[in-house]
Amino acid sequence: MRIHFHGAARTVTGSMHLLEVNGSKLLLDCGLFQGPRQETYERNRHFPFDPRTLDAVILSHAHIDHSGNLPHLVKQGFQGPIYATPATAHLTDLMLRDAGHIQEGDARFINKKRSERGEALIEPLYTEEDAAWVKPYLRAVPYDIAFEAAPGVSARLVDAGHILGSAAAVLDIQEKRKRTRLWYSGDIGRPGLPLLRDPVLPEAADTLLMECTYGDRPQPDPQWACQQLRDIVKATVQRGGKVIIPAFAVGRTQELVYCLHRMMHSGETPPIPVYVDSPLAVNASEIFRMHPECFDAETLTFMRQYKHPALDFEKLTYIQAVEESKALNDRKNPMVIIAASGMAETGRVLHHLRNNIEDPRNTIIIVSWQAPHTLGRRLVEGERLVKIFGEIYERKAQVATINGFSAHAGQDQLVEYALRVKGIAQRVILVHGEPNPAKTLRKILVQNHLEPVYYPDLHQDMEI
Ligand SMILES: [Zn+2]
Ligand SMILES: [Zn+2]
Repeated sequence: MRIHFHGAARTVTGSMHLLEVNGSKLLLDCGLFQGPRQETYERNRHFPFDPRTLDAVILSHAHIDHSGNLPHLVKQGFQGPIYATPATAHLTDLMLRDAGHIQEGDARFINKKRSERGEALIEPLYTEEDAAWVKPYLRAVPYDIAFEAAPGVSARLVDAGHILGSAAAVLDIQEKRKRTRLWYSGDIGRPGLPLLRDPVLPEAADTLLMECTYGDRPQPDPQWACQQLRDIVKATVQRGGKVIIPAFAVGRTQELVYCLHRMMHSGETPPIPVYVDSPLAVNASEIFRMHPECFDAETLTFMRQYKHPALDFEKLTYIQAVEESKALNDRKNPMVIIAASGMAETGRVLHHLRNNIEDPRNTIIIVSWQAPHTLGRRLVEGERLVKIFGEIYERKAQVATINGFSAHAGQDQLVEYALRVKGIAQRVILVHGEPNPAKTLRKILVQNHLEPVYYPDLHQDMEI
């Protein structure tokens, strides 16, 4: 069996690994590569194999860096099954259509400028309609049920504890006389995240193919993150201010809602209105509600004891319509507004920031990593003057950062994960990580006598 590393090799985006086994071709994830525009365009449009010759895809989870290039795969002739858990199948359809919608908007924006300059127009990477063609190929397979992904390949999805529906893929492969087990981690979550179960750790595996995003640093405790949120909400309410949280619509938003629900339910914070202002978040929360099979025991107990769905409570309002979103500006009482986008670059959160950033009673809470040059990053760095919709505003609102909601395992958890196959695995292969985290993690694993540990280059291949 050969494995080719066609994405997320020495970087974190564009996860895509091709297995050639018993004359079949099986793809692990089909993520969107994200980088400089021209490279993004080239890499995502041209697969290093013919999609028509591919037999099946196994999808670890719905994040775009793992699922986001499926529309091209289907457009270029792939007709096989895309195996995923039921929640991932649901979320992927939603997120791909949303990604197509965003790309159409981006292309329109760029083309406006290009046409002013008399330059050739660009096409969107893919459209919402292209994205909708993926759905018929998605095959939902529940956790822990074995299925034949290709001749001689028995596969099983186990909970990765990263986002709703996320999975690691365990492949038991029989090729000629050789039996081997490949454990593909997908993205590894961490214990204690709100709503989700803890990740299943590997059992016996001959090859462990794993992510290493945070191989060089620990991650703060999610419990601590909920407590920080509680203290900030309390202090802001005492000042009579509003809390504005830019958040990604899928995953982070639902975790925040669940934390707020619990703290208001227990009386730790006063019951103030909470608004989730994002059409995508509304649809995503609906999908969360449809998949309680993915929730952890704590969430299920909370729901049973208090006869409450985890993601709904009296004080919570989901906002779809633009008019309702605008109407929030006229309300002066303390409230929490959670709105996309997560890096405060686009979307409705910009309006809320513009309307609230100059009031010192308010707090803006940053709950995820912010890319350089984004408005989110400028806020984290404490800049006093920021530009929103082309106008300068003086930031008088407080800015707080909470890091503990990250959905990725930290260094200690990655080490624990990998060491489960010590003495069994013939190799560990690190993907989905920058060079520094990979180098650091590799060093620790080798010190613990787990080797060899590979860190393949893009398009490198390996016999396993
Ligand atoms: Zn992910
Ligand atoms: Zn990822």
